[in-house]
Amino acid sequence: MARKINFFAGPSVLPVEVLEELGKEMVDFKGSGLSLVETSHRSATYDEVHMGALNLFRELLQVPDNYKILFLQGGATLQFSMIPLNLMGQGGTCDFVNSGAWAKKALADAKKIGNVNVVWDGKDSSYMTLPEAASVKPSAGSSYLHLTSNETIGGVQWKEFPKTGDVPLVADMSSDILCRPLNVNDFGLIYAGAQKNIGPSGLTVVIVRDDLIERHADELTAYMAYKTHAEKDSLYNTPGVFPIWAMELVLKRMKSLGGLDAFEKMNQEKADLLYNVISQYSDFYNCPVDEKYRSVMNVVFTTPGEETDKAFVAQAAEKGMLGLKGHRSVGGCRASIYNSMTKEGVETLASFMEDFAKANS
Ligand SMILES: *Cc1c(COP(=O)(O)O)cnc(C)c1O
Repeated sequence: MARKINFFAGPSVLPVEVLEELGKEMVDFKGSGLSLVETSHRSATYDEVHMGALNLFRELLQVPDNYKILFLQGGATLQFSMIPLNLMGQGGTCDFVNSGAWAKKALADAKKIGNVNVVWDGKDSSYMTLPEAASVKPSAGSSYLHLTSNETIGGVQWKEFPKTGDVPLVADMSSDILCRPLNVNDFGLIYAGAQKNIGPSGLTVVIVRDDLIERHADELTAYMAYKTHAEKDSLYNTPGVFPIWAMELVLKRMKSLGGLDAFEKMNQEKADLLYNVISQYSDFYNCPVDEKYRSVMNVVFTTPGEETDKAFVAQAAEKGMLGLKGHRSVGGCRASIYNSMTKEGVETLASFMEDFAKANS
């Protein structure tokens, strides 16, 4: 079997060992005579997987006991509604850092529910930089301050986070959750769709501090209230059995490879390989992102023109490297090199980038 090298932004690369394990166990899960995906979510068989995934997630990210971890559906996109509904309430006020495409979507939904102060806007830099963490201050009376830890389309990533005091810091970590260790205590709520860094689509992980769960719970319908899910270990309704199972296998593997410290190191090494080629061939490649905030997950770059961008993507595909076209809203090229992308995969791309630059300069 000739596996391609997968640089898609999401859904995205999963470890081949995990895919093989899912395949091996798909029809007869651990000798139970049923597939896990046709087993009751109230069964002991599923419970072990579900609780196993919750516990592993807590262990890897060192989530303190006064935070709940929730497994929800509806993508990160549903959180754009659930967060303002639960933390701000109708007509309240919240703060946003507008760092690009994903922050804008989250902000637009929050505006339908209450008032949004934009405390920093990257417009003047075309969203190619971020504010100094220490300069970001919440406004008086704000319910929370929202930021996007990694802009998947723009390729900008926070390296340090603001300290927001009594105003809870909320972060969309969809494209860099578990890419590095994190001090969860600095946040009120963290959320991430699984399909970038930790699993298949159909699962959103929400980490929320206990005191925030209660804020507006009683005003909301059952699914929309965090409280509903928190009280039932995310088994109030049928969870995404398949993505939770797959994520559990991804997390087990991450633990066996040394946890988040090891992944932080690997992720930086992989990103450096590509950024080094870009700077070495700076007459040919350009990365528009401020060096201080270049993402280790999504490396965006252009070649000298749209025609060469197209040729780059097409020739890479012929060599088995898929998903390198930039997002339709920005063009150019993008290599998404999430946790499960191998170093060999990135080395193959880096050496192709060198060859392509030499051949087309
Ligand atoms: C992909 C992505 C989303 C949207 O996720 P869905 O699961 O498709 O709703 C939101 N925020 C960021 C940063 C993303 O990368």
